Amino acid sequence: GDALVLDDVSKRYGAVTAARDLSLSVAPGELLTLIGPSGCGKSTTLRLVAGLDRPDAGAIRIDGETVADRRTWRPPERRRVGLVFQDHALFPHLSVARNVAFGLARLSRAEQQRRIGEVLELVRLGHLAKRYPHELSGGEQQRVALARALAPRPAVVLLDEPFSSLDETLRAQVRADTVAALRETKTTAMLVTHDQTEALSTGDRVVVMCAGLIEQADTPQRVFESP
Ligand code: ADP
Ligand code: ADP
Repeated sequence: GDALVLDDVSKRYGAVTAARDLSLSVAPGELLTLIGPSGCGKSTTLRLVAGLDRPDAGAIRIDGETVADRRTWRPPERRRVGLVFQDHALFPHLSVARNVAFGLARLSRAEQQRRIGEVLELVRLGHLAKRYPHELSGGEQQRVALARALAPRPAVVLLDEPFSSLDETLRAQVRADTVAALRETKTTAMLVTHDQTEALSTGDRVVVMCAGLIEQADTPQRVFESP
């Protein structure tokens, strides 16, 4: 089955229709990028999937389970989603390991330790487990945020402009590391960007949004070659 399905999902904020009849199926392990001009509904789409906002109409399914429709509402903590949002920064008073452990409370201590080791190795930060966020570079902090999102083994990871605060050289490196980590764990992901190069180099499919609508959803080659 699909990892994520949006079925005719709409969301209005007052007079603005931020998401209009969005329908989309994402296969397990697929890496999707969302592009489009500012205000076209990219962040709204991620928030609806994450459960940070409730659709006015339509249904959302994650790994075959309905998380939102007319009758159903699952809050974010009961959806199998991982978030790498700019405004979900690391907890400054917690070590790297404790930041990563944040979503693992329901697991045994031993399993938590195993997961922390696994994901920090995945993002090549095992040696920094005892450090605090302010002791890390921007790129390292971003990799910790990804490790924290992956640790609970979510069905879908949502990334909202995850590299935009990094300088250009670092951005390419962190982007490549992120894609590698998602591929290695076969994690399904939706990544919002306004950068065409980024969409071209990261996505299996590119979803182009405009004024709350999905205009196109196709391979990067087809999207960027189309007239
Ligand atoms: P994007 O991420 O593509 O820049 P958004 O999803 O943030 O776009 O916004 C889509 C539209 O919805 C914009 O017109 C924006 O102003 C509006 N919008 C988003 N969130 C809210 C909100 N909480 N309240 C009112 N309007 C909002
Ligand atoms: P398989 O289906 O071959 O058992 P998986 O796709 O489940 O493999 O995982 C491949 C490897 O990645 C395993 O070593 C697993 O422990 C690890 N892994 C899977 N999911 C995650 C995750 N979210 N974070 C870190 N490591 C993971």
